[in-house]
Amino acid sequence: MPMELPSKLPHVGTTIFSVMSKLAQECGAINLSQGFPDFPIDEKLGELVHTAIKAGHNQYAPMPGIMPLREAIVAKAESLYGFAYDPEHEVTVTAGATQGIFTIMAAVVRPGDEVIIIDPAYDCYAPSVELFGGTPVHVSLDADMHFDADAVKKAITPRTRLLVINTPHNPSGGILRDADMRAICELLRGTDILLLSDEVYEHIVFDGEKHASSILYPELRERAFIVLSFGKVFHITGWKTGYVLAPKALMAEFRKVHQFNVFSVNTPMQYALAEYLKDPLHYEMLPRFYQAKRDRFLIGLRASPFEPLHCEGSYFQLADYSKISDEPDLVFAKRLATEYGVATIPLSPFYKDPPPGQRLLRFCFAKQDETLDNAIEKLCAI
Ligand code: PMP
Ligand code: GLN
Repeated sequence: MPMELPSKLPHVGTTIFSVMSKLAQECGAINLSQGFPDFPIDEKLGELVHTAIKAGHNQYAPMPGIMPLREAIVAKAESLYGFAYDPEHEVTVTAGATQGIFTIMAAVVRPGDEVIIIDPAYDCYAPSVELFGGTPVHVSLDADMHFDADAVKKAITPRTRLLVINTPHNPSGGILRDADMRAICELLRGTDILLLSDEVYEHIVFDGEKHASSILYPELRERAFIVLSFGKVFHITGWKTGYVLAPKALMAEFRKVHQFNVFSVNTPMQYALAEYLKDPLHYEMLPRFYQAKRDRFLIGLRASPFEPLHCEGSYFQLADYSKISDEPDLVFAKRLATEYGVATIPLSPFYKDPPPGQRLLRFCFAKQDETLDNAIEKLCAI
């Protein structure tokens, strides 16, 4: 008899990203589902990894990350947000943002704690809260997919331990602006609620808007874990390399967990990234680069029966398909992949309680122009 294991996550299945990418592969659909670029990385970055390997940087890195990378991270954050974290105590290199988030939950959440999550939400937040005995408290964005401070205020209780925010936002493509950040300052003032600020798309903000990082707000920064990822910045999602910034006392607790769930992150990649980060052009080009892709995709989508929503940041475009079908989004997304050859992500998996009748799909436009054009041709033919 095979052994049974009572599930710690009984309502969790395989992530929608794996499901849709697999389906795309099986049916040969253009994959605009899982968020990753389909273009090559900068050759220079690859060469820097070779150089690091040849120089013998092949053994364990120090637990919090190599110092040159931590220093380069601090210099970048200071130049962008005017605040210098201490590389010794306040920066930890992680195996992607996902491990950073999981480690934060492990360090912070105790049985009975409530963690406020704003739906639609990236899929790894709630399960990691539950694994540590916490209760995810889901609050929705408003009908226009904007942050709703009043709804968050109503959800705060004496048990609230952590608020999770994400800007630029996956999956909506929205951003938090200064007024939203000030509202969050007000919500948290006088409480001992911590903040997890997921800013993995920090450089991908469009139309001349500025990224309102939690780092810019001393009241938030002092209680915040800021989560970032090189995967999104340098088109290297497969390297699974990111970092977390937090004040010393919070980071000390983070590292107590980090040292036992990963210990340290691959060494040659860290040396390469430390060197590559020195040239700000490598990330300063991102808004222009991705805005051109957003615009190209948007113009194409407007000629199709899909109705695009507004995208202010990230590399995701939402679109309403209710003119085409009234099927539930998962059913329609599967049919779009298998019958029309374009794989996307349905929105309902980003919610605890998906809004009834919502007919939205997420398209990833971090793709070569040719891929986007081919997808548009298929979408226009529906
Ligand atoms: N947060 C958000 C909002 C994301 O979209 C993603 C996926 N890129 C992550 C965290 C995880 O990032 P990583 O691939 O670095 O683990
Ligand atoms: N962040 C990516 C997305 O939103 C997916 C990463 C993953 O597959 N876990 O598509």
